[in-house]
Amino acid sequence: MPENKNASFCRWRRFGKAGVRLDAEKILYIDPIVIEPGAPKADIVLLTHGHAEHFSPDDVAKVSSAQTVVAGPAACVGLFRLNQLPFEAGESKTVLGVSVMATPAYCPDDARHPKEAGGLGYLIEMGGVRIFCAGDTAVVPELRGLKADAGFLPVAEDLMSARTAVALARDMGLRMAALTHAEPGSALEKDFIELAQREGIAAWLPEPAFAAA
Ligand SMILES: [Zn+2]
Repeated sequence: MPENKNASFCRWRRFGKAGVRLDAEKILYIDPIVIEPGAPKADIVLLTHGHAEHFSPDDVAKVSSAQTVVAGPAACVGLFRLNQLPFEAGESKTVLGVSVMATPAYCPDDARHPKEAGGLGYLIEMGGVRIFCAGDTAVVPELRGLKADAGFLPVAEDLMSARTAVALARDMGLRMAALTHAEPGSALEKDFIELAQREGIAAWLPEPAFAAA
């Protein structure tokens, strides 16, 4: 199940613990990692923060061409000589025709993800579909009121519980939700899928690695 079709336009793949690729009128990677040879080049790379499970400069290079826009926190994008686009939480920009809003990603109770670190998530509108990629965050007040069609939510002991992730998915109006972080077959994953289904939200198993096309 490496590939799915979101709504009518946007295809996605998940790979690594938290990497996502969206294919619609542009090819957009969020936190490219565990990239296999032959993977399509990105029009846009969005980076969420500098943790090693998310940020791999080698993998960013693998999916980048001279035209690729690399966007994210200044501390991450500053490492590249490509077309850098620094983002801060709350900013909205149109990137190659794709609407991108950066949302804050942090956990008030987690020393690994303090607000001051400037971690980001993204609300992307592409192909007529709004997709939320939360980054490493708890359900923080700034996320209240956001709406999207599909979302990638971090379910892990130090980020969101399955229950809080599904509650956020419901509040955001998500029709489709996929996990990041939780291991395949884990209790967290089972809980998330069961709770999401009860809310009428389609939920998919995470892919442990990028699958060859
Ligand atoms: Zn992190």
